[in-house]
Amino acid sequence: PQTDAAPYLQGLNEPQRQAVLTTEGPVLVLAGAGTGKTAALTARLAHLLYTRRAYPSEILSVTFTNKAAKEMRERVGRLVGDMVEGMPWLGTFHSIGAKMLRRHAELVGLQSNFTILDTDDQLRLLKTLIADADIDEKRFPARSLAGFIDSWKNKGLTPAQLDAGESELYANGKGQQLYQAYQDRLKTLNACDFGDLLLHSLVLLREHREVLEHYQQRFRYIMVDEYQDTNSVQYLWLRLLAQERKNIACVGDDDQSIYSWRGAQVENILKFERDFPGAVVIRLEQNYRSTPHILGAASGVIANNGGRLGKTLWTELDVGEKVKVIGVWDGPEEARRVAQEIEACQVAGKSLDDIAILVRAQHQTREFEDRFIATGLPYRIVGGFRFYERAEIRDALAYLRVVAQPADDLAFERIVNVPKRGLGDKAVAKLHQLSRALRVPLSEAAARILDTDEMTGAAKKSLGRLVADFASWHTKAAELPHAELARQLLDESGYTAMLQADRSAEAAGRLENLTELVRAMEEYDSLGAFLEHVSLVMENDAGNRGAQVTIMTIHAAKGLEFDTVFCAGWEEGLFPSQRSLDEGGLASLEEERRLAYVAITRARRRAIILHAANRRIYGQWNSSIPSRFVGELPKVHIDEETTMSGGESLWRANWTDRADPFADVARGTGRGPGWQRAAGVGGNVDVKNPGGAFTSRTFTREPARVKEATRSAVSL
Ligand code: ATP
Ligand code: MG
Repeated sequence: PQTDAAPYLQGLNEPQRQAVLTTEGPVLVLAGAGTGKTAALTARLAHLLYTRRAYPSEILSVTFTNKAAKEMRERVGRLVGDMVEGMPWLGTFHSIGAKMLRRHAELVGLQSNFTILDTDDQLRLLKTLIADADIDEKRFPARSLAGFIDSWKNKGLTPAQLDAGESELYANGKGQQLYQAYQDRLKTLNACDFGDLLLHSLVLLREHREVLEHYQQRFRYIMVDEYQDTNSVQYLWLRLLAQERKNIACVGDDDQSIYSWRGAQVENILKFERDFPGAVVIRLEQNYRSTPHILGAASGVIANNGGRLGKTLWTELDVGEKVKVIGVWDGPEEARRVAQEIEACQVAGKSLDDIAILVRAQHQTREFEDRFIATGLPYRIVGGFRFYERAEIRDALAYLRVVAQPADDLAFERIVNVPKRGLGDKAVAKLHQLSRALRVPLSEAAARILDTDEMTGAAKKSLGRLVADFASWHTKAAELPHAELARQLLDESGYTAMLQADRSAEAAGRLENLTELVRAMEEYDSLGAFLEHVSLVMENDAGNRGAQVTIMTIHAAKGLEFDTVFCAGWEEGLFPSQRSLDEGGLASLEEERRLAYVAITRARRRAIILHAANRRIYGQWNSSIPSRFVGELPKVHIDEETTMSGGESLWRANWTDRADPFADVARGTGRGPGWQRAAGVGGNVDVKNPGGAFTSRTFTREPARVKEATRSAVSL
């Protein structure tokens, strides 16, 4: 068919067309946020189908989320109609890996109906293996072993490939032995974990020529979105598949690499050109998403990172509003302010679907949720649960419900064995029997069963302890403030300790959520009032349709866009996170800065950044200072507003007092620390081009030029 008039090419700019039409050979599209990378990839997919270069089943197309895959499928469907009868190989790395593995399971020692273990199963298995190996699980927790195994899998390392250094990470060099034992056991169970979906697929291709050749032939074209966040095993897998035909197109943005904590390696961008010599590298420079002020603000922040590949961004959109930076007194005021602004948007006729609130940490959503519930503003939480629906929150609430209302059987059953107390299904069945026979609630049956011979040994002992604990919490409930009761209960039940022993990435977030829960309780007069509030919140959740404000973490917002974006909690210790400041050094801080860049660049028309002067963290008030990223926003692109007396100068002065912990580290940008950059000399040269379009250039590769560049004033 004629391609020039093809619908999918309409409106694409020249380099985008090139990305679509260069179908043969390796292609790398390296471009900033909102430049139409995903749009070009979608058009490319349509082009391949439209011109019959490949059947839908011959294209391997990797997206970052299942949702993105669905969107791409829909868009291509609109472009080429029913030619796209499903795309079997369009999905996330994990979904595609699972599909491939099911087809060839026996070659890696599994059956095609293998189960995929969840974290709980995985830990239980590891614990038995650790015990078998006579390792003290208290010193070397199963959770940390699980973390190491996951990171080895992300690196594409099988047990046999593990070197001594990696093995040394766990139990004085027992890492490899246990990793091997774990993999063996999984095979006998006909199971695999999440990481195996890719590792096994990689091994499959590596060790079975005929399978490799089959897929190398099958996948005429390979495409990858969000390429900057691929990890090693994904990279190795792609490289094998593409090695034969070499028709691989990857799109990415080094400034949006935000998953290094999951093993993502931005270096894969550099490796691409080495592994696929002659790759056509395409740069997209026109941003179609954001206004000049939004773009300028985002570019100003990211310019503070070193070692960037550097790119040019410009937009023809109207200059629009400046990015609003709002300083508020505390968290509740932040939520009130955002709700107010959203109501103003509604009055102005904007849809709630076009508004997002982006947070750094999950626990930040709670304050917004409570506010929105109070004012009846519909919202949805994307890429996570609503605060009160999270597992750890439900667990904690279940404990509190039993204290407040011993007849709450559902709550009791939920936590009777959380944390693990050796009270499994059998024990619970016995409790149910007795409870039915005596017509008493489960918690009462638990007390009574202790006087019988129904239960023995360790189970009886730990049930006895739980019954005694509940009795003691019940007494305390009459004496202590309820938030304090909750705090003690979480400690005494072993729940906090369970999460503390958990080294996984989520555990820290869960602990924060619990702290946030206790904090939320302080706002209510009694335990009863608080629990009632929660059940109302839950009730409120059911069946909310129609337009909704989206609340989500920045991580989950990757690739998305909204008219109006609120960036909440831009304070030191929250964003950048305390962990990144304490542990991570420069690399961590730069990843946080990329998150800031991702957050701002989600906005089409309006970006509003908020910071509070006070936060209650871990149950106590802390005065906080605005994030260094606030200080890095070029002044010319922002409007500042503060509700605090003393105003902006106060908090800016505050920030200057803090020594920049990285002041003596070369950043490749050749500039000094922190807030000074905000004085109007950003990392960009912002010039109005003859056509009236706004240009923001960033030079980061050559320090000498950078120094020059930063001397130029911003003009807009
Ligand atoms: P990110 O880095 O955030 O993933 P991206 O580079 O993938 O961004 P897209 O999401 O593809 O960017 O595009 C951003 C916006 O620009 C979308 O609303 C898209 O529809 C629009 N867009 C892309 N290309 C063009 C074009 N040639 N003309 C007009 N609008 C375009
Ligand atoms: Mg994209």
